[in-house]
Amino acid sequence: MKDLEKMSVPKSNKIRVTGLSAALTAAIVVTAAIVVTAAIVVTAAIVVTTVFVEVQSPLLKLAKTAYAAKKKRQQIDLAKKKFYIQPLGRKLTNRAVNEVKISLQTFYGFKVQVLKRRRLPRFAFYKPRLRYRAEKLLSHLGRVAPKDAFRILGLTAKDISTTKGKYKDWGIMGLADLSGKHAVISMYRCKLGSRNRKHAVHRLAKVAVHEIGHTLGLDHCPTKGCLMEDARGTNKTCDREYLLCPRCRRKLKALGYKFPFSPRPPWPKPKNGV
Ligand SMILES: [Zn+2]
Ligand SMILES: [Zn+2]
Repeated sequence: MKDLEKMSVPKSNKIRVTGLSAALTAAIVVTAAIVVTAAIVVTAAIVVTTVFVEVQSPLLKLAKTAYAAKKKRQQIDLAKKKFYIQPLGRKLTNRAVNEVKISLQTFYGFKVQVLKRRRLPRFAFYKPRLRYRAEKLLSHLGRVAPKDAFRILGLTAKDISTTKGKYKDWGIMGLADLSGKHAVISMYRCKLGSRNRKHAVHRLAKVAVHEIGHTLGLDHCPTKGCLMEDARGTNKTCDREYLLCPRCRRKLKALGYKFPFSPRPPWPKPKNGV
């Protein structure tokens, strides 16, 4: 028995040692597995992050380009904008107002609504020359314009003026806020030297298109016969005008406005028009 015990002790020790070593091995294996897994995960995370960062910026660029292209395709449809005409004073006939309305509808494709006639505001009256200051009429239009107005055009038969360079009070056919909402035009100078009523109304309608062109962002154009030509103090400029020149059309297109604008304007084609 003793012998057996003697013999069994080392055996059982051996077993325990063997057992301990197995546990240690297992622990080492598990630890190694954890370490390896962690290393793999960290490496993978680094790789994914790097790839993400590398790929993200071109992707973002691509998305931005696509958005810009989409926005460009979504051009401004003037037919869906609210456009108002505000007759100012009693003298301008409803017929003339209506003809300007039709001209703007034809040319720009606006849906035009004529507002109820209003008196010319007293504060805009310039007593020394017995005429109305156009910039004051513009601020008046700003006050009376309906909230949903995309653009508002004031129409009057009275003479209007503004300060131009050294001229403190310079008579004009029309004035507009550049890239703004308001414009005002007058029949007074369109009538001077006109052949007949129709001729004067055609001039007025061209001035309307010109001033609205300013509100849409067009400057004066050097092309002779373009509707955006600077009148330079004479209504004769109107008479050689017919359409917007290709440069002005390109600019409006670049500004996001839908084309084509009226290929057939409501006025006759002058011999030397564009
Ligand atoms: Zn102008
Ligand atoms: Zn032009």
